[in-house]
Amino acid sequence: MNMDIPLFPANRAPLSPIYPWPNGQKAALFLAVDVDAESAWTAKDPKNYERLVTMSFGGYEARIGVAKMLELFRDYEVKATFFIPGWTVDAHPAMCEAIQKDGHEIAHHGYHHLMPDPGAPHILEEIDRGLDSLKKRLGVVPVGYRAPVGESCEELRVLLKERGFQYSSSWRDDVRPYRQVLADGTPGVVELPATMTFDDWMYGLTHRYSPRPLFPREHVLSIWNDEMEETRDWGGLITTVLHPQVSGRPMRLKILREFLQATREYGDVWITTGQEIATHFEKCEAEDSSRA
Ligand SMILES: [Zn+2]
Repeated sequence: MNMDIPLFPANRAPLSPIYPWPNGQKAALFLAVDVDAESAWTAKDPKNYERLVTMSFGGYEARIGVAKMLELFRDYEVKATFFIPGWTVDAHPAMCEAIQKDGHEIAHHGYHHLMPDPGAPHILEEIDRGLDSLKKRLGVVPVGYRAPVGESCEELRVLLKERGFQYSSSWRDDVRPYRQVLADGTPGVVELPATMTFDDWMYGLTHRYSPRPLFPREHVLSIWNDEMEETRDWGGLITTVLHPQVSGRPMRLKILREFLQATREYGDVWITTGQEIATHFEKCEAEDSSRA
């Protein structure tokens, strides 16, 4: 097979700069929630809309999951970023207004939650339709974006920059924020990298298409706390990928509560939104370049 793969890394951004976190904090927790609702399932197959039990996995978010997560975040007095597909905003406006009312950041997560695979015909429409829904229904012009199904490509990165996004949180290749560099060498958006370690779907969701045992609280907390503690020692960024159809379930919410408690007990982990973290990064970046 003739594999015509270029002889340089796919990500040509320089190593992430080591900027201090604000107010003497040692690390940051980017508390991020993906409110896919039913679009997680219709994105796999539009016919799933007629499969009512399959739909009900996503439907849990508007009925129970989001409200329970909002309650938890109120108790802990933390602000999160909610990445919401446009379809979810259109189909569940009241749920999204409740998120907004609590002062959380609303960010972009596609329209139908379709994966931005290179060359896919829907890349532009997913971005622009998503922007329209957030604007029309919530009056929000989002600064943050997370790729549905966690994939990205050059066309998408260029589009994010053109549409004025400040940051993306999709890539898996760092433990600190960095500035993306586009294929033409110009700067892209700020990247707030994520890790599968903090994707609750991996541990807490089982269904017909991927039946598997769930991970118990002890296992998930052990993984999450170990990763958080070590990332904190490194002075890095901890990014979550939570879903209300998973973490909004009773015992999964307990895991999230205990994880937030453990993180908060350190007293020096900045628990905040993507916008705050990206803005802090840009401030440090500007200071750095004015010194250079
Ligand atoms: Zn998603």
